[in-house]
Order: sequence, then C-alpha cells, then structure tokens
Amino acid sequence: MLDVAWARTWVQAAAVAVADAKDELTELDRQIGDADHGFNMDRGFQAAAAKVVDAPAETVGDVLKLVAMTLMSTVGGAAGPLYGTAFLRAAKVTTAPELGPDDVVALLEAALEGVVARGKAAVGEKTMVDAWTPAAAAAASARDAGADAVGVLEAALRAAEEGAASTVPLLATKGRASYLGERSQGHLDPGARSTVVLLAAALEAAR
Ligand code: ADP
Ligand code: MG
Ligand code: MG
Repeated sequence: MLDVAWARTWVQAAAVAVADAKDELTELDRQIGDADHGFNMDRGFQAAAAKVVDAPAETVGDVLKLVAMTLMSTVGGAAGPLYGTAFLRAAKVTTAPELGPDDVVALLEAALEGVVARGKAAVGEKTMVDAWTPAAAAAASARDAGADAVGVLEAALRAAEEGAASTVPLLATKGRASYLGERSQGHLDPGARSTVVLLAAALEAAR
C-alpha cells in the first residue's frame, strides 16, 4: 500500500541505498564530473531520513515535501536543486491518503517535469532526464495496461535502468560533464544512476 508509511519507509530505504551506492556514484562522477555526486546524495538523503523519522506528515506529499526542502538546503551542486524540484513537484500531486496507479504516474511525471523545469535538459543529453523520461512513460503504459500501483513502480524502475544504461555512449551537452566534450562518451551518467537507486528504494519500500 503506497501510503504515508510507505513514503517514510522509502526515504529510509533511499538513505541506506544511497549510502551503499556512495562510492559507485562518486566514481561515476569522477569519470565525467567532479567526483562529488556520491557525497552530495549521501549528505542529502541522510539529512532527509533524519528529518522524516519524527516530523509530522499526513500524506505521501507531506513526506516528499520534507525531502524536497532538505535536499535543497543540504545538497550542493546540480543534483540538490534538480532532485529538490523533482520532489517538490511530486509532493503536490501525492496528497491522496493512498496512491493508486494514476497517482504513481502523476508522481513520476511531476518529478520529471521538475527536473526539466530546473535543468532544461532534453532526452539524449546524458543526464538524469534520460532515466526519468522512460520511467514516467513506462509507468503510464503499465497503468494503461491495468497494472496496480506497485506494478506501475516496477515498470518505471525497469525503464529507468534501461534509460540510465542508454547514457553510456551519449555525448554530454548539459551539466559539468559537457565540459569534457567527446571524452564524456563511454561513461554512465551519475545522476541517471542515482535516479535508479531512488526508484529501486521506492519499490523495495512497497514490498
Ligand atoms: P555537480 O555536477 O554540480 O557536481 P552532481 O555531481 O551532484 O552535481 O550531479 C551531477 C548530475 O546532475 C549529472 O550526472 C546529471 O545527471 C545531473 N545534471 C546536471 N545538469 C543537469 C541538467 N541541466 N538537467 C538535468 N540533470 C542534470
Ligand atoms: Mg559532481
Ligand atoms: Mg559538484
């Protein structure tokens, strides 16, 4: 059941998963950035998990808003405002007591819109947009095919994984990796990878 308890569990699971992935994210960002994505994400999600433990929250949206505020104030660099805006937009469409398939699609679409509003990247520019875009699209397809809320989340995760993998050959044209030009090719985008980590935690929390 994707209710406020699920949202709290998601944030705790995300903090654990991001801590586990810290070195991997740092290494990816070392290859095409400034080697701080693991550190940035870990600091943000440890802070979010600590905040969410005992803060009052009635809905999933309340929890996501707490996460958004915490990420914006604790995560430096590009990822803080990008994920902060994603969670803030997602919070606005998740005020139902329990999320159904439509709500999960709305959450993912709102998160994607937040990332795009903030970073102005399109698909194919080697950013987290390359994971969020197929995730939102696959979620809508799964919903249309009759999947339940958790099934929609599962479809989103699989598509995000494929989307993240698709960034490897791409030439970065947004963010710090774009400074490398052709040398950005042949590497997985760190933000696309962290998107997968966050969605995997959302699914894990639902099981
Ligand atoms: P910084 O690049 O400032 O050090 P991070 O390392 O925390 O910040 O985050 C880098 C990630 O942010 C990239 O891997 C990419 O996925 C994402 N990113 C950077 N710029 C943009 C953008 N304009 N739109 C979407 N995502 C972006
Ligand atoms: Mg970085
Ligand atoms: Mg940085």
